[in-house]
Amino acid sequence: MSTTASRPARAYAAQSAESPLAPFGIRRRAPTAHDVAIEILYCGVCHSDLHLCRNEWAESNFNAVYPVVPGHEIVGRVVEVGPAVTRFKKGDIAAVGCMVDSCGTCPSCNKGMEQYCETGFTLTYNSPDKHLGGVTYGGYSESVVVDEAFVLKVPPHLDLAAAAPLLCAGITTYSPLRHWNVGPGKKVGIVGLGGLGHMGVKFARAMGAHVVVFTTSPHKSEDARRLGADEVVISSDAAQMGKHFRSFDFILDAVSAKHDVNAFVQLLRLDGTLTMVGAPEKPLPVQVFNLLMARRQIAGSSIGGIAETQEMLDFCGEHNVVSDVEVIAIQEINAAYERMLKGDVKYRFVIDMASLKG
Ligand code: NAP
Ligand code: ZN
Repeated sequence: MSTTASRPARAYAAQSAESPLAPFGIRRRAPTAHDVAIEILYCGVCHSDLHLCRNEWAESNFNAVYPVVPGHEIVGRVVEVGPAVTRFKKGDIAAVGCMVDSCGTCPSCNKGMEQYCETGFTLTYNSPDKHLGGVTYGGYSESVVVDEAFVLKVPPHLDLAAAAPLLCAGITTYSPLRHWNVGPGKKVGIVGLGGLGHMGVKFARAMGAHVVVFTTSPHKSEDARRLGADEVVISSDAAQMGKHFRSFDFILDAVSAKHDVNAFVQLLRLDGTLTMVGAPEKPLPVQVFNLLMARRQIAGSSIGGIAETQEMLDFCGEHNVVSDVEVIAIQEINAAYERMLKGDVKYRFVIDMASLKG
């Protein structure tokens, strides 16, 4: 049993893979020297929240520890800071993404890539809680206490609800687009126009690439263009797909479910890369000949480091990029999950955390 001082906080949790989310009381530590205590104003709803609540990643050895309090797209107001905190003060707007700690000493952490921490980072939810024991609890809650090294600043003119999804959907798409040098003269595909995908379109466009959206939902075509796509391809239409054979420099795949990646790999040109950010429940078969015939690569990418997340937020401030959001009350969360599964959200649900007190 931990002796760290703690305080109660209201939250929503899933108690099992089968149970809907429901009110649940948690505890947050009293801020220690380097901590920032945040009253959560908004929290985005990521498909990863749904995957984990339903324990869909068990086959990849990523198991849910119940109760799960999800949420890693957090924007809030600082209510208290520890005595050693230098970058935040009471009243500031602050943001927290998918990580709240890492080892700080391994080669990845030393390069500012805490998301690839070799001894294991602390996720905002479902990681061992070093302070209170048990597991960490996420942003479907009224408050959170986080080491200031993992707290981000939101550019002042951005809408706070629309900025929340930048903390996961934003950085998860920004980071690979930067890493694979997306920019003017590059033909870039974004597969799946959901929470991640629509941010990928906005970023790829803002970076100056020629952007093609691949969607299974014809009714999203008009939105895709409004969001910044130069072209839209209905991925189930073989004739439309065939027109893009061997032409892409880079494709970002943000699909949450089982699908045929090979159909997209063959659209890559020589040395082109398809990067998975989507995290489907089941393994995806790879047609190796597709790779051999044009030295193509399939890669993966996970969120982004803290410095890069701040860079992304600053980029959003400069280019006026935020998420297209539908703000909901926490009581609507289970219905929102069902709608997300049907692709019925434009394009990210964000919980107004004031509803937790109502
Ligand atoms: P989302 O909003 O539900 O979007 C997923 C999109 O995938 C849908 O809008 C749909 O787009 C497409 N899709 C869904 N089911 C499909 C199917 N059966 N076949 C083909 N396309 C399908 O989800 P999200 O929040 O953007 O998350 C996407 C994935 O990224 C999830 O698996 C999530 O866990 C993962 N993720 C990974 C990271 C990371 O660090 N790598 C971070 C966050 C999330 P269309 O209607 O346009 O086809
Ligand atoms: Zn996420």
